[in-house]
Amino acid sequence: METTPVSEDCCVKVAVHVRPLIVDEKLQGCNDCVTVSRGKPQVQIGTHSFTFDHVYGSTTGSPASSMFDECIVPLVNGLFQGYNATVLAYGQTGSGKTYTMGTGFKDGCHIGITPQVMNALFNKIDSLKHQIQFQLHVSFIEILKEEVHDLLDPTSPNKSDTASTGKVHVSGKPPIQIRESSNGVITLAGSTEVSVTTLKEMAACLEQGSLSRATGSTNMNNQSSRSHAIFTITLEQMPVTGDGSTNDVMNEEYLCAKLHLVDLAGSERAKRTGSDGMRFKEGVHINKGLLALGNVISALGDEKKRKEGIHVPYRDSKLTRLLQDSLGGNSRTVMIACISPADINAEETLNTLKYANRAR
Ligand code: ADP
Ligand code: MG
Repeated sequence: METTPVSEDCCVKVAVHVRPLIVDEKLQGCNDCVTVSRGKPQVQIGTHSFTFDHVYGSTTGSPASSMFDECIVPLVNGLFQGYNATVLAYGQTGSGKTYTMGTGFKDGCHIGITPQVMNALFNKIDSLKHQIQFQLHVSFIEILKEEVHDLLDPTSPNKSDTASTGKVHVSGKPPIQIRESSNGVITLAGSTEVSVTTLKEMAACLEQGSLSRATGSTNMNNQSSRSHAIFTITLEQMPVTGDGSTNDVMNEEYLCAKLHLVDLAGSERAKRTGSDGMRFKEGVHINKGLLALGNVISALGDEKKRKEGIHVPYRDSKLTRLLQDSLGGNSRTVMIACISPADINAEETLNTLKYANRAR
């Protein structure tokens, strides 16, 4: 029997990404209230001090450029060994989640995680394609108010209209459903799965979905701050046999793994997203996903509880249900807590650090 590889890395790693003060904050006269210890993955805010696996950004943290190599490359390599993985960007609206994940297409020459993943993936595929035949699929969905929306569906109406008017859009399609197969594999029924063979095709999917999601501002009320966006890459591999054909799916060397790149909803409190009932409800729903995620990750990270076979509450939200087969078990998870250094955001920054700290 194959033994479960014990990763030197625990299944959940937590990194903090401190962005610099942005122009807006400087104009408001904000001060930097976040201190990063030199040479240590430690963050201080006020009287609180937290230690994580990595801290990137600010003048004293590790350079953000090393985040990809340290946190993400192991996940990409794991995909080729059949391990599912999830990268989550957590933080209040405006803290740099989309910038970090690289799903926004509006940050000039900056290249975030997702485009770098695509590059690394295709480089590796290129180097292996003589021995292995690869198949790649991508999907890009959004979870808003506990409903799954397809960002790659060309026939889908513009959801930002729906978000601003609160109207439920009428589409002919049945809602997307999360299904679990008998062997625990989670699939989405009814969402677009695009088969891609080139980097360009994959990048086009990312762009299409991002545009469909974007409302272009960091306004607290915009849709992208209230929804979770999940870009998923599925990699299937079959060895190429001597005669050039491939073995079938029954072959034990067939591998299938997926990587979820998740730009989470803003973590700010519901009270800050608006006072009318509608938005408050949305806020509650967002918190449902983030709350469930916090509980799942904290249950996974707790070695003692895990050994006692503690119940991991995946079913408490659409988000955790969807990520169920890619969080915990043999899969690898990286949570990147994004924070602003500005004193006006101190309260939310502290909340983010506390949330991330639970995940360790
Ligand atoms: P979020 O997705 O969490 O709402 P964004 O990624 O949209 O936040 O970032 C908010 C603003 O801060 C954007 O203008 C973005 O360009 C800027 N920003 C975020 N992170 C960084 C960073 N590490 N360096 C420079 N600017 C950043
Ligand atoms: Mg964003």
